[in-house]
Amino acid sequence: MSAEPGDHSKIHWQCQRCGNCCRWPGEVPVSDEEIDKIAEFLEMDFYEFVAEYTDIRRNRAGLTLIEKPNGECIFLEGKNHCRINEVKPAQCSGFPNRWNFKGWEKICEAVPVLVGNEQQTDS
Ligand code: SF4
Ligand code: SF4
Repeated sequence: MSAEPGDHSKIHWQCQRCGNCCRWPGEVPVSDEEIDKIAEFLEMDFYEFVAEYTDIRRNRAGLTLIEKPNGECIFLEGKNHCRINEVKPAQCSGFPNRWNFKGWEKICEAVPVLVGNEQQTDS
């Protein structure tokens, strides 16, 4: 069921797993707690994960996942598969419902559904 235009309080943006947000160049901050979970998921030691998959953020305030040379996330496989989907960082799971930016709809293929009709497909 689609949401009525203008009824934003009841809208959930349902991810269509297009993978576009994983291809945007930019930081994906990760907290120590998130690193713990991802490292365990990948059966790696915390510091081994930090050395292999993270870099210091531009503002020096923490760590970010590294990118491939083409700018996409290091954990993107193929067009739209996240290798760490089960334990992805809050920045990934929160977009576009908990945070977004001006013009995000132009690059994100999420569709509006009424709250309560969400499906577990978020990328
Ligand atoms: S961690 Fe997964 S969901 Fe987040 S940007 Fe990377 S590939 Fe995409
Ligand atoms: S959140 Fe949007 S851009 Fe990211 S995979 Fe889902 S539909 Fe695509």
